[in-house]
Amino acid sequence: MFHVKQFDVVVIGGGHAGCEAAFVAARMGCNVALITHKKQTVGEMSCNPAMGGLGKGHLIREVDAFDGVIGKAADYAGIQFRLLNKSKGPAVQGPRAQCDRALYKKFIHTLLDQHKNIQIIEQEVVKFDMNGDKIRAAVLGDDSKIDGKAFILCTGTFLRGKTFVGSEFKHEGRTGDSVSNYLSNQLRSLDLPVRRLKTGTPPRLDSTTINWDVVEYQPGDENPTMLSFDNRTPVHQQVSCGITYTNPSTHQVITDNIGLSAMYGGHIEGVGPRYCPSIEDKVMRFSDRDQHQVFLEPESLSSKMIYPNGISTSLPKDVQTQYIRTIKGLENADILQFGYAVEYDYIDPRSLNEDLSLKQIQNLYLAGQINGTTGYEEAAAQGLVSGLYAATLAKDKRVDPIFDRTNSYIGVMIDDLTKKGVTEPYRMFTSRAEYRLKLRCDNADARLTPTAIELGCVSDLRKQRFYNKMDSINSLTSELKAIQVTPQQANTMGIQINKDGQKRSGLDLLSIDQSNFDYLVEHHPLLTGFESETIEQVYINAMYENHIKKQEANIQKCNEGANVKIPEDMTYDGMPGLSNEVVSKLRQFKPKNINELRSIEGVTPASVVIVLNALSK
Ligand code: FAD
Repeated sequence: MFHVKQFDVVVIGGGHAGCEAAFVAARMGCNVALITHKKQTVGEMSCNPAMGGLGKGHLIREVDAFDGVIGKAADYAGIQFRLLNKSKGPAVQGPRAQCDRALYKKFIHTLLDQHKNIQIIEQEVVKFDMNGDKIRAAVLGDDSKIDGKAFILCTGTFLRGKTFVGSEFKHEGRTGDSVSNYLSNQLRSLDLPVRRLKTGTPPRLDSTTINWDVVEYQPGDENPTMLSFDNRTPVHQQVSCGITYTNPSTHQVITDNIGLSAMYGGHIEGVGPRYCPSIEDKVMRFSDRDQHQVFLEPESLSSKMIYPNGISTSLPKDVQTQYIRTIKGLENADILQFGYAVEYDYIDPRSLNEDLSLKQIQNLYLAGQINGTTGYEEAAAQGLVSGLYAATLAKDKRVDPIFDRTNSYIGVMIDDLTKKGVTEPYRMFTSRAEYRLKLRCDNADARLTPTAIELGCVSDLRKQRFYNKMDSINSLTSELKAIQVTPQQANTMGIQINKDGQKRSGLDLLSIDQSNFDYLVEHHPLLTGFESETIEQVYINAMYENHIKKQEANIQKCNEGANVKIPEDMTYDGMPGLSNEVVSKLRQFKPKNINELRSIEGVTPASVVIVLNALSK
């Protein structure tokens, strides 16, 4: 054995968690080793070629507030941008980018090549060299050692990964990739709580064999919303996606062959993602439905690969071809890559501290799918957290806790994972956050960038832009607060409000309707010259101010109700507003009081309020 080099931070895994962890530690001045099976697959989007969406877009913006890379890479690679939930308030809107997977990887590789603090080592880590409850080095497949002060494990679906197509299976972390068995064995021998989960992906189709004339089209937004605070417009050509539907014939093929599916054939013990079910799951669980939507998403501007979103599967290859060809527009479609399921090890995240370090091993952090989450965004956000804390450990600095439920979705996720654990792959939703009116995409930088600047992980350029932006917002807010008008004066300006004799500030008037700004500016020259983005941000802040107060009162009510007892014969079925998931969990766990109820995995803060209200009636 020989020692290669001493690093501050050693990151194992080049997926979305590993990349974000390596970049943030490097931005904080650490000397970082990024060890991964293949350099070529660093930044790979293993499943769907899209980033963001509801809750997930929030996570990307929060990572971006720390000058992270996921949002910038998605913007660079974006070939269709859509703001989801546009008809609802800004708090629950989620920016989403359909990405060109080759461009995404290219962006990440260019950044890595440019970063003098990151060294990529193309090897498998087979074990850790331990010194008591501390890791001394990562041992590679060729027996060499990489020493480090802090280690971050981001092994995705690779620990004892097993892929399935029908009854065929292979030991691999992703189709065509290696598996990580040695490391998994060591984690088990260290008595870590290792469990199994599963996920799946659909077959990929040849675009030239799809009849595009008979499917619906979904274009991107006319005014794209970018994922990073740095960007304003897309870089590459924009495309439309197609939409088609499964039908009774599709469902018949699936039902006839259900016993051949790896998931239903009893080959997989792990639990799959509730919110990203396979087509087998959808057909069997929702047998009353005679169609399911299928989005036909181009994977790249430079390939003919189409990702049919909504029909992931582990059925045998011939059955996949058969059911695909029952779908409108896909009657002659050729499959370029078959769908498959993957089962893998994860570690119960209740074994982690809130900085994502293991309670049992002092300098080992875990991030991404290994903690029971699913999705690139959840992985990247944990990568950021682990990288931040690992860097501070390596530099011997102490920091106060950075994330909590009141300041970020990242805080919500970490609190959920480390306190409630997971029994099924965890993904982010806006409903998981009790402070969601405050935790918006639009203000992620205002919430988090000051801390990021303090921690030293923000570039000078980003810092300056942030200060300029905040100066404009603060200055417009002050100008608007200084304006005081009576209802009569507002009326003469063209703004209709209650004639209650109460004076209102310019900010109050803006909070009612953004277009009131145009009336105000006509009479108040000091309001001229502000950019439309500043006006919009001040409007959103003002609009939410009162709602946030009400939300805080609700949270207070829940906290006060923590000890309220729940009768043994309480029935949750049919309680308006409770999802099927929550009802089934409450039926299963039968909480005795509100405190127990809210600590159950998957029980959202809104459900706690619903049950409390029902009890008070
Ligand atoms: P990954 O992106 O998996 O990266 C792991 C990295 O670790 C790889 O680079 C690997 O080479 C490296 N590695 C592993 N072990 C070692 C070792 N011992 N030594 C060196 N390097 C190692 N997400 C969704 O949101 N919805 C879905 O429907 C969905 N479906 C999926 C289906 C499939 C088949 C797969 C594979 C993934 C799916 N995902 C889905 C998950 C999504 O891809 C992951 O959540 C995300 O990529 C996890 O990021 P990560 O960084 O944790 O791990």
